[in-house]
Amino acid sequence: MASEHEAMWQELGLDLAAHDQLLQVLGDGYGQIFLSQQQRPEGMEYFNFVMSEVHGLRIKELVDGQAEGKKVIGSFCVFVPEEIVRAADATLVGLCTGADFATDLVDQMLPRNTCALIKSAFGFKLGKVCPYIESADMIVGENTCDGKKKSYETLGGLVPNLYVMDLPQVKSEQGRQLMAAEFQRFKEAVEELTGIEITAERLAKGIKIVNDRREAMHRLYKLRVADPAPISGLDALLINQVAFYDDPVRFTESVHKICDELEERIKAGQGVAPKGAPRLLFSGCPMAVPNWKVPWIVESSGAVVVGEESCVGERGTRNLVEPKGDDVDSMMEAIVDRYWKIDCAVFTPNPEREEHVKQMAADYGAQGVIHYGLQFCQPYQMESLPLEKKLESQDLPVLRIETDYSMEDVEQLKTRVEAFLEMLA
Ligand code: SF4
Ligand code: SF4
Repeated sequence: MASEHEAMWQELGLDLAAHDQLLQVLGDGYGQIFLSQQQRPEGMEYFNFVMSEVHGLRIKELVDGQAEGKKVIGSFCVFVPEEIVRAADATLVGLCTGADFATDLVDQMLPRNTCALIKSAFGFKLGKVCPYIESADMIVGENTCDGKKKSYETLGGLVPNLYVMDLPQVKSEQGRQLMAAEFQRFKEAVEELTGIEITAERLAKGIKIVNDRREAMHRLYKLRVADPAPISGLDALLINQVAFYDDPVRFTESVHKICDELEERIKAGQGVAPKGAPRLLFSGCPMAVPNWKVPWIVESSGAVVVGEESCVGERGTRNLVEPKGDDVDSMMEAIVDRYWKIDCAVFTPNPEREEHVKQMAADYGAQGVIHYGLQFCQPYQMESLPLEKKLESQDLPVLRIETDYSMEDVEQLKTRVEAFLEMLA
C-alpha cells in the first residue's frame, strides 16, 4: 500500500512502523494465498484493488466524507442494523479482524482463554494499526457472547465512543421486544450522532442499499451451485469480507459484474477446479480479514469450498428486509423481522442453524461439512458436537476444526483435511 497515505495514517494516530509491518504481512499473505490461484475470474481484479487499498483509498474516502459531515460507525457483529446507519448517510464498517497483533499488550487486558477474534480487535486497537477503529465516530459493541459483552467493559476504557447494544439470547416474545427497543434506541443514537432525522424516505433508501447488496450476494451464492465451481471458496470468502468495508453501491455493482462473468463460465463449463472435485461447506465462526488459513488449506488440498454458513457468509446476508408499510414504524418492524431470523449460536436453543446447514449442503451439493470453531468460542464449540452428530446421522460427514489465528497448526490441519477428503472419496 502506498506511502502517500502516511500523513493520513499519522493524523489518525496509527503507529506507522507497526502499521507498515502489518501491511507487509498482509500483502505477502495475499500474494501467496490469492494471487497464486489458477483460473481466477477477471472480476476479482476489483476485489484485489479494494484489498490493496483497504487501509489507503477506502480510509481516505471515509475521512473525506467526515470532512463533509458524514459519520463512520464501526461494528463487530451482523446484528447491528446497517439500514439505520445508511439512512443517516453514515457508513458502517466491520471492525472484526482476523490476525493476531500486539499479543503481549492484549494478554495484559484479557484472559488468555479469550477467542482470537476478540483478542485481535483489542490487538489492533492497542497496537494502533487499525484506521477503521481510529476513524470511527461511534463504535457499536453488542451483548452477544460472554467474551464480547464482558470485553466491551474494558474496550470502553480504550475508545471514547463505545455504544453498547443489548441483544436477546432467547427467541421469545420478550426477546423480540428487547431487540425492537434496542433498534429504536440505536436509531435515536444514530440520529443524535449525525444530526439527521431518519425519515421514512431516508429509511427506505437505507433498506434498499443494504437489500441490494444482499441480493447481489444471493446471486453469487446461487452460481456456486455449479460443478465445476466457477469461483473458488477463497475468492467468495474474500468478496464476503470486502462487503464489510467497501462502499455498498459500488460493491453491489462489482458483485453483479463478476456474477455476469461467472454465468459465462458456467455456460462454457469452465471452473476453478475440475468437475467432480470434492465440494465442502464451511460452518461456524466468522472469518474476518485476513483469516484465510483453513479455506486455503482446504482448497490447496484439492477440494473446493462451495458455501459459508457463517456471519461472513450466508448467516450474515440471508433474508431481505421485506416491505411492511411506508412509515418509519413499519419499516423498523420489518428490520427487526429480518434480524430476528439470524441463527447465531448465542441464541438458545438455536435449531434453525442445523436446518440451514443441511439446506445449504443439499443446495450446493456439498459432500461434507467443515465445522470451523475458534478456540475458546463457547457458543459455536458447544453447538458443534450436537450438530456433528445430527449431520452425520444423516450421512453428511463433518470435520470439526478448532483453531486460532496462528500458523503453528497448518501442517496438522492439512493432514486432517487430507484424511477427511480421502474418507469422502
Ligand atoms: S457469530 Fe453471532 S456474535 Fe458473532 S458476528 Fe455473528 S451474529 Fe454477531
Ligand atoms: S467467535 Fe465466538 S467467542 Fe469469539 S466473538 Fe464470536 S461468538 Fe464470541
